Amino acid sequence: MKAPKDNAASQENAPNFIHELVKREAQEGMYGGVIVTRFPPEPNGYLHIGHAKSICLNFTTAQISDRGRCHLRFDDTNPEAEDTEYVESIREDVRWLGFDWGSHEYFASDYFERLYECAVDLIRRGLAYVDSQSLEEIRAGRGDFYKPGVNGPFRERSVEENLDLFSRMRGGEFDEGAHVLRAKIDMASKDVNLRDPLMYRIRKVSHHRTGDDWCIYPMYDYAHPMSDAFEGITHSICTLEFAHHNPLYQWFVSHFDFDPIPRQIEFARLNLTFTVMSKRLLKRLVEQGHVSGWDDPRMPTIAGMRRRGYTPAALRRFAERIGVSRRDGIVDVGLLEHALREDLNATSPRTMAVLRPLKLVIENFPDGEEIELDAPYNPSDPSFGSRKLHLTRKVYIERDDFMEQPMKKWFRLAPGKEVRLRYAALVVCNRVVKNDAGDIVELRCTWDPASKGGNAADGRKVRGTIHWVSAAHAVDGEVRLYDRLFNEENPLDDAHDADFTKRINPTSLEVIDDAKLEPGLAVRAPEERVQFERLGYFVVDPDSTLERPVYNRTIQLKDSWAKLAKKA
Ligand code: ATP
Ligand code: MG
Repeated sequence: MKAPKDNAASQENAPNFIHELVKREAQEGMYGGVIVTRFPPEPNGYLHIGHAKSICLNFTTAQISDRGRCHLRFDDTNPEAEDTEYVESIREDVRWLGFDWGSHEYFASDYFERLYECAVDLIRRGLAYVDSQSLEEIRAGRGDFYKPGVNGPFRERSVEENLDLFSRMRGGEFDEGAHVLRAKIDMASKDVNLRDPLMYRIRKVSHHRTGDDWCIYPMYDYAHPMSDAFEGITHSICTLEFAHHNPLYQWFVSHFDFDPIPRQIEFARLNLTFTVMSKRLLKRLVEQGHVSGWDDPRMPTIAGMRRRGYTPAALRRFAERIGVSRRDGIVDVGLLEHALREDLNATSPRTMAVLRPLKLVIENFPDGEEIELDAPYNPSDPSFGSRKLHLTRKVYIERDDFMEQPMKKWFRLAPGKEVRLRYAALVVCNRVVKNDAGDIVELRCTWDPASKGGNAADGRKVRGTIHWVSAAHAVDGEVRLYDRLFNEENPLDDAHDADFTKRINPTSLEVIDDAKLEPGLAVRAPEERVQFERLGYFVVDPDSTLERPVYNRTIQLKDSWAKLAKKA
């Protein structure tokens, strides 16, 4: 098993109590020094950033020991809602994050026979029985936190009768709900989960892998610990809501002679501001068409974030930084975005694109001529290399970079003002050309031919630098400006309205279909990431073609939300 390391992150990570614990145990030589973990997704949706935290945690925990390994186990015991599309996407996402489970890919459904045999074994030992009460009767009989449970009328069935009924349940003789198999533990236990929990129920539905082989399916509380034990898992890491199930988990695995006996350890799940995370809610966003699919770049799914331009390193770094604790909380999405900016800043070539073009004509530049310029892809890091740009008589600049009546401290272009076209030249604006409606259609400028490359020969200082693209060389492209999907910190706060989709940010996507791109941007492949200077980080979308490049905005250079929040 291999997993990438993020050196940059290691110093400032929040505490991770699971790593601390496992390191101690590994030092003491427990588990023969071999840590085995598993990531156990249910294939009923795409993975999200919360799963990414769990994946990172499981793989890095296993890495603590040299021969450690992390299994990928599809927890497909629930026949409904599961789909091979999800299985594929999960594999793809874990791999993309940078983790490798080697040959250790498993399906809980592969254990159906073995789980059945273990259940028969428990029946033989008087530790499980077939109950023929209705589910309501069973529920009532289990009592609650205040009221102890009572033994039901079928609890003392003979082993023979139980074996017979259970095998006929498997054989399909009975209707759904006619019988269930229950562990025989203690109906008076203080722990409600130990009051003879269900192990099997009859479900006459096809399973995406086992088809119609089975009409009884094991419950999660039985299948999960047993699957862990079958695989030799040492640490079964799960989220806090399973803490109540821990004694039951231990009960099942300790009734067989497994070595090692797996142990469940719970940690607080990740919650993020401005995000919903549960698969159920994400599915609703997809099905109701609020987004274009599971991989819509606004989705907190791994597939969506990938399409948005997130890097695996940024996600891993984020997961390390937030640490692992047992206290539930909500993490500021700004932290995730910060990790992303850090990584993109270090890895993205700087390029130029104009999103809202305004034509600028350099009147003293002969038509048809061009000047070749050398432009570095990252001025502070020569290893990025450089490309050639061409200055021509007509160029596009950003509409926002011109102000007819400039405010104070406006260093960009305005009538009579001089500005630098990045890497190219100093230009002065002489005249503004408008149409009949009064809209600006063109700027007339002159350039200082002694400023080739961008600096004045006489040493005069020009503060403003703007980006530009040669009109003769520009490639038209589509740019999708994505922003946060929700405009409230907690979209699930139903103080005003229970429908979280009402809190979708109406400007979370703006499509610009006539952006002007520097030529090199047309030939980049999907998922290549760049910075558009002064505008943000962008990534090539899979929809992109040579004829029509499509870029997604990953994130702006600065956190505009933080600024907004400060103002408010
Ligand atoms: P959801 O509630 O989003 O549907 P789930 O827990 O049902 O998630 P599973 O496929 O069962 O999804 O989860 C696989 C693993 O990922 C489990 O170990 C689960 O605890 C973990 N996990 C799920 N959501 C989070 C989260 N927000 N933070 C950390 N781990 C998570
Ligand atoms: Mg689940």
